Amino acid sequence: MSIKNNLQRIKSSLPKQVTLVAVSKTKSVSEIMEAYDAGQRIFGENKIQEMVDKEAQMPKDIEWHMIGHVQRNKVKYMAEFVSLIHGVDNFKLLKEIDKQAKKHDRTINCLLQIKIADEDSKFGMTSKEAQDILQSDAFSALNNVVIVGVMGMATFTDQEHQIENEFKKLKSIFEDLNTLELKNSKLKTISMGMSGDYQTAIACGSTMVRVGSSIFGERNYD
Ligand SMILES: *Cc1c(COP(=O)(O)O)cnc(C)c1O
Repeated sequence: MSIKNNLQRIKSSLPKQVTLVAVSKTKSVSEIMEAYDAGQRIFGENKIQEMVDKEAQMPKDIEWHMIGHVQRNKVKYMAEFVSLIHGVDNFKLLKEIDKQAKKHDRTINCLLQIKIADEDSKFGMTSKEAQDILQSDAFSALNNVVIVGVMGMATFTDQEHQIENEFKKLKSIFEDLNTLELKNSKLKTISMGMSGDYQTAIACGSTMVRVGSSIFGERNYD
């Protein structure tokens, strides 16, 4: 199947309210252009340098999402153009994003990454930490970042019910956070679901899926 066919098949299976992020990490500009020419405009990368290189070479109406773990000292490289940062897992990072966004006179949308997986390797904060940030004066003082939702990754397992429970947990954390009195508008995005589990994620309330290999084929890391 071609990239175009894969994309069309997946898009047509998504409910209207679900946004598709085409995860293009490790893929070439020409492969990404195939998806672009088929109408896709939102792409996700997990390495800042790779995203910066691709952004420079590609059409300017693309929305670039940073879906990977973000090191604070690299925020400056993407601050001018990134449209959503999925993996915000601490306040110091949020503060740096705000500072760099301000330099470019823009506001950067962010998701708080919540740890829902039963694995040490997955990044993310607890729901309590997310709540503390959202309610803090320090966060209220930041004018160039907006938290628009949450992001989570399920455990890498073939235990369907475990994945489902973790997605349900994220949905319920999202709802709890939305009952808080928030300075900025309501949280609206729940970023959860990848190639192997996006249908489950959607059934559990996902509004944004991050799909790579089902669109572009398996990644080759050599
Ligand atoms: C690579 C990646 C994806 C996409 O994974 P696929 O299994 O190829 O769909 C989604 N989210 C994050 C955070 C990733 O790093």
